[in-house]
Amino acid sequence: MNKNNNNWEPVIGLEVHAQIISNSKLFSGASTDFGSEPNTQVSLVDAAMPGMLPVINKFCVEQAIKTGLSLNAQINQRSIFDRKNYFYPDLPQGYQISQYTQPIVGKGSIEIDLKNGNSKTIAITRLHLEQDAGKSIHDIDPKTTYIDLNRSGIALMEIVSEPDIRSAEEAQEYVKKLRSILRYIQTCDGNMEEGSLRCDVNISVRKKNEDLGTRCEIKNVNSIKAIGQAIEYEFSRQKEIIESGGKVGQETRLFDEKKSETRSMRTKEEAHDYRYFPDPDLPPLEISLDLIEEIKKTLPELPDIKKKELIEGYNLSSYESSILVSDKKNVDFFEEI
Ligand code: ADP
Ligand code: MG
Repeated sequence: MNKNNNNWEPVIGLEVHAQIISNSKLFSGASTDFGSEPNTQVSLVDAAMPGMLPVINKFCVEQAIKTGLSLNAQINQRSIFDRKNYFYPDLPQGYQISQYTQPIVGKGSIEIDLKNGNSKTIAITRLHLEQDAGKSIHDIDPKTTYIDLNRSGIALMEIVSEPDIRSAEEAQEYVKKLRSILRYIQTCDGNMEEGSLRCDVNISVRKKNEDLGTRCEIKNVNSIKAIGQAIEYEFSRQKEIIESGGKVGQETRLFDEKKSETRSMRTKEEAHDYRYFPDPDLPPLEISLDLIEEIKKTLPELPDIKKKELIEGYNLSSYESSILVSDKKNVDFFEEI
């Protein structure tokens, strides 16, 4: 990717939606089991019946704190839930409860290892809690769309990176590392095929050291391989537009896995289009230092620490040990033999 680019470079920031491991939803007691009969896990709150009130799930909050601590991040002792107004056909409320100006977790970082032996730190902007939408099913009947609300209201962590990523490889390593951390601490199962981990890829191009260009957002890229392909495709597409004198438009795009290309979905909305405002049904979320300390004590040994042990204990290279620690089962097996 670095050859013959006339100094063009891609600038990439990732938004990862990670489904929280929890038996019940973010604001209701309905079950989160995967693969149940459609619409069997929908409480009156999830169906947005008039007058129903959301109640925050304490366990989901603890899971978010645990994740924040594992990403070397600032835990905000006070955070706010906002309504993000948008027409989601499969979210009956007509808005999504999310966090906007004051998320539960602030700045953090993830260290990634590259094939050339270098490591790089990718800064994390924030982690916030939000609800998932349900599912629209278009392929049962040619004329009808069916809606399954089982997923509606399930807790997600949206983890947003700074635009620090500079290649497809770095983006892939970032997602792999994030996934392995989430699996070590058991806050998300990281299963991309089932949609428990979904990635939006934001990408722009620029000449090295120039100001940031206009970004496109590629929605819901669902495998590590697709993340790489979408970036390679989008990098060439944007480069060609600029080189032929055009301008990249800010838009939301889709990645077509069969054709291995991205295509336009809609022009990108701006934050002010969502009419965010604090949800009057939910008080600010206050977290005590004691709770944060308690959760800290439950953290297992994280991949970076394990990696150091392997390098020092077995004389492995940084890259070799990063491959071993990426899956906890592999480390355990290695240490056993
Ligand atoms: P939105 O919800 O509008 O997509 P977010 O703040 O949640 O906004 O996410 C924006 C993402 O886009 C972040 O990951 C950020 O790093 C990335 N980003 C911002 N500006 C650029 C840019 N010029 N080029 C590439 N990525 C960018
Ligand atoms: Mg986005």
